[in-house]
Amino acid sequence: MGRHTGAVCRLCRREGQKLFLKGQKCYTEKCGIERRAYPPGQHGPAHARRRKQSDYAVQLREKQKVKRIYGLHEKQFRTLFERANARDGITGENMLISLEVRLDNVIFRMGFAPSRSSARQLVRHRHVEVNGRIVDVPSFQVGPGDEVAIKSKSKDLATVQGSLEARTRPSLVEWLALDEKNRVGRMTRQPTRQDIPLAVQEQLIVELYSK
Ligand code: SF4
Repeated sequence: MGRHTGAVCRLCRREGQKLFLKGQKCYTEKCGIERRAYPPGQHGPAHARRRKQSDYAVQLREKQKVKRIYGLHEKQFRTLFERANARDGITGENMLISLEVRLDNVIFRMGFAPSRSSARQLVRHRHVEVNGRIVDVPSFQVGPGDEVAIKSKSKDLATVQGSLEARTRPSLVEWLALDEKNRVGRMTRQPTRQDIPLAVQEQLIVELYSK
């Protein structure tokens, strides 16, 4: 299945929680999940009343939630999981860390874009450099010591400017450093699970894919 291109608030409503997929608009506009606090679709209200979910359904929803937060296709997500599983360490944590160090996520976390989808566009449109070279692959894995910057001609882009000035901008995570004026940031160290401000149970995703 392709990436969702419809109303993104539906995705939050499907997962039953705010995923903040619209960036600053999630703070400044009336939130879709508050307007209609039940899953989308004809049977949405009936689903909301049904309490008991199977283990499979719980695991599936957790996977869909993480996939939607980071804006990945199923195939991309599965590949990322397989790679995380092949590495030493705890698979679920490896997976979340791989998601966090994606270039689009790093751009978002540095505050250069108001959402991950907007960050992805900045990368694809060749506005982003890693260690002085343009990288237009959103899934590029940023490593400790890497310098991530908005290229000089794009430093004053409205998206970047507006995002950095937004009142609702989340605070910078500890594993990134930022020189806001020059639109340059650096990954100071590899993040750990504790550094990832995401309320998800990644073990459920591991269980789902291990069936
Ligand atoms: Fe989700 Fe609310 Fe943002 Fe819509 S406005 S994307 S429902 S958090």
